[in-house]
Amino acid sequence: MPSVKEYSYEWLLDRVYSKIPRHETKYEVFRIPKVQVIIIGGKTHIKNFRQIADAMNRDPRLLARYFAKELAVPAIIDDTGSLVLHGKFSPPVLNKLLEHFAKNYVICPTCGSHHTILVKEGKVFKLKCLACGAETTLKAF
Ligand SMILES: [Zn+2]
Repeated sequence: MPSVKEYSYEWLLDRVYSKIPRHETKYEVFRIPKVQVIIIGGKTHIKNFRQIADAMNRDPRLLARYFAKELAVPAIIDDTGSLVLHGKFSPPVLNKLLEHFAKNYVICPTCGSHHTILVKEGKVFKLKCLACGAETTLKAF
């Protein structure tokens, strides 16, 4: 008998996996929305931040932390769901960061699917692919 933990994990993965139509995963194109940016008083606002996080199926707070780390500036999510970065950053720079994030923390390195979940376990992230079942360990931030 598997332990309770293993059982519930397999069961959960099975459940999520069964909800994805298999024939659609392979040829589906994954598009990250481009940033919509305005600069107010020396701060960069990404207006469609929530939409971007949703498209990648990631917690906006995690994505905000990534931006803060990579750009080395404070980053907060305001009441409207925009990400507010201290300093002025151009859309190409921000779009590039999003691509990096997607490549490292969304796309499965084994099969290229973006149907993945990211779970923090202690000091690492586990990127679990719902399409092929691969599990990748990444350094957490
Ligand atoms: Zn995969």
